[in-house]
Amino acid sequence: EAKEAGRNTLRFFDPVMQATVEASSALESDLRRSLREGGFALHYQPQLDRDGNPTGAEALVRWLHPEKGMISPADFIPLAERTGLIVPLGNWVLEAACRQLAAWQQDAHTASLSLAVNVSVRQFRHPDFVEEVEGVIRRTGANPARLKLELTESLLLDDVEEIISKMTRLRQLGVCFSLDDFGTGYSSLAYLKRLPIDQLKIDRSFVRDVLTDPNDAVIARTIIALGHSLGLNVLAEGVETEAQHRFLLEHGCHHFQGFLFGRPRPVWREAGVVVV
Ligand code: C2E
Ligand code: MG
Ligand code: MG
Ligand code: MG
Repeated sequence: EAKEAGRNTLRFFDPVMQATVEASSALESDLRRSLREGGFALHYQPQLDRDGNPTGAEALVRWLHPEKGMISPADFIPLAERTGLIVPLGNWVLEAACRQLAAWQQDAHTASLSLAVNVSVRQFRHPDFVEEVEGVIRRTGANPARLKLELTESLLLDDVEEIISKMTRLRQLGVCFSLDDFGTGYSSLAYLKRLPIDQLKIDRSFVRDVLTDPNDAVIARTIIALGHSLGLNVLAEGVETEAQHRFLLEHGCHHFQGFLFGRPRPVWREAGVVVV
């Protein structure tokens, strides 16, 4: 039987696929090494209110690969999720973000800023996640009211009662929630109403063509209207042009984030002051 299986394996051996598997397992061991030895950084992208004042930032992780240079999260977050390494990586991100938040609190210029942190489904699902957040807040002295956890709609594929109870426990710590990439996933409006969230983030894909694709314009306006009627804050991500900004402003969007206002950067610059 073993021989049979061996033959099958041989019969289906695909050198291209094999190369991909080897490359991704090399990347996996690099990821493990960087988690052990350090090699990640956070970049911060500003978020602005309707008057153009910065209200906070989103923390975006960067991997400084020892040979390949800076690798974008789109190229390693899926691998980290597949391998479970997203849990230690996500914990590192939370801790580094909360340290930054605590530093902002020490300076009058930045004391009111909030910080959004991306949390992957697998990380959120981990049984110790609430305790982890609690510990990080205690260790860093970050104000939990300024910490915003970004979740995605794919979370809602799980047991919704369990998710709501976990979110409620986190809320009791003082943190708030934003639903990232909103409109691309599986949210049912019935669930949305029950989730203890504060903000919807209109996905960049709708913002991009908001002026040229009537469908995207309708989707963006509908998300804004939905936010208004459910009492949720709405933030548009990926705003690149004045015209997109104007359209979203006219339709009542509350907050904005995108290259038009600032790219993600390693440190926060506010009024010429560098705060690390
Ligand atoms: P996201 O959370 O939706 O973050 C927004 C992404 O859009 C960022 O890409 C940001 O650099 C990019 N972006 C912002 N404004 C603009 C714009 O005006 N135009 C364009 N073309 N792009 C813009 P980034 O940093 O490469 O991150 C990609 C994704 O990786 C994030 O999407 C998020 O899903 C994930 N990610 C990033 N950091 C973390 C993290 O710490 N933990 C987890 N679990 N996921 C993360
Ligand atoms: Mg995000
Ligand atoms: Mg997003
Ligand atoms: Mg997005």
